[in-house]
Amino acid sequence: MPPELVIPSELLPRDGRFGSGPSRVRDAQIQAVVDAQPHVLGTSHRQAPVKNVVGAVRDGLSELYALPDGYEVILGNGGSTSFWDAATFSLVEQRAQHCAFGEFGAKFAKATAAAPFLDDSQVREAPAGDIALPEPADGIDVYAWPHNETSTGAMAPALRPQGTEGALTVIDGTSAAGGLALDPTQADVYYFAPQKSFGSDGGLWLALVSPAAIERIERIAASGRWIPATLDLATALENSRANQTLNTPAVATLVMLAEQLRWLNGNGGMDFALSRTAESARRIYQWADASDFAETFVTKPSARSSVVATVDLSPSVDSSVLRTILRSQGVVDIDPYRKLGRNQIRVGMFPAVDPDDVSALTASIDWIVERLQT
Ligand SMILES: *Cc1c(COP(=O)(O)O)cnc(C)c1O
Repeated sequence: MPPELVIPSELLPRDGRFGSGPSRVRDAQIQAVVDAQPHVLGTSHRQAPVKNVVGAVRDGLSELYALPDGYEVILGNGGSTSFWDAATFSLVEQRAQHCAFGEFGAKFAKATAAAPFLDDSQVREAPAGDIALPEPADGIDVYAWPHNETSTGAMAPALRPQGTEGALTVIDGTSAAGGLALDPTQADVYYFAPQKSFGSDGGLWLALVSPAAIERIERIAASGRWIPATLDLATALENSRANQTLNTPAVATLVMLAEQLRWLNGNGGMDFALSRTAESARRIYQWADASDFAETFVTKPSARSSVVATVDLSPSVDSSVLRTILRSQGVVDIDPYRKLGRNQIRVGMFPAVDPDDVSALTASIDWIVERLQT
């Protein structure tokens, strides 16, 4: 049993939620849900009030990313995990190349590798904490990798590999979107879900798609390949253009997402988001560098994520004891990714997280460790 340590309240973060998804929800998002009663909540998703919320989400994302002409925002039910299956059916023509340097990149690779109608996927691996980069190869029509590998806290460049004309770049932005910089022309498909930087609930997927991706989606749909309706991106495209989804979406989730986009765009858009995440990252990595019991897990400075920080602890500091003490005082979800199995903390630093709270977190950790070690 960890000792009964009561962290002085002036040291504690004002909001103790540091999860990597679900993540901190702002009060204004809950107020938006309250305000959506009774004119939006509990009403048909085929009518204007809900369609307008979907429209606000699509417009808000176009604005946040300054999407070039011809790019579109599409959405559907099922979260990013479902999007991997949809991409397997609707984006990969014959063979995909994946970069896998953690749990999420590897899961998408597994999805395309299992598809009986595709050639075996090419997988470029790197150990946890490092990154792998796409490499042009013959016969590859989709290059896929995570912009931010949430399981390890490593971020990779979102840059289209040279010499891959005709192939699509399909980037998993689930934990990166809204918190890491993106030049949308570098991706044909940039997909994500609302429960990370957008502080909403899970269960939806969203994707920014280029004209080349739209052409691919339509061509595969016309090719006669069997595609389950819920995973057919041509159907999603058609519904999205009408501010609809194939089947009923979680309306409250859309309301919270629309509010977060309004907040981000209203405060300066991507520059605002990036200034928050970069400042949080600067503080936590500086703390780890200076600490004698903490060390940043990702060794390459350029790969250290600004949205999810992973910090190894020395054996004298038991991460689970530390987390139990913090949790008892409302500071939650800094658990390392289960399968990584390290004596580590993992801190979500999405735009809604106040950099001052990151400083309060590290101060609270220092306070606890000082008392555990004496
Ligand atoms: C969270 C996450 C996912 C999974 O998202 P779901 O919406 O839960 O399916 C996929 N990829 C990355 C990079 C993630 O961080």
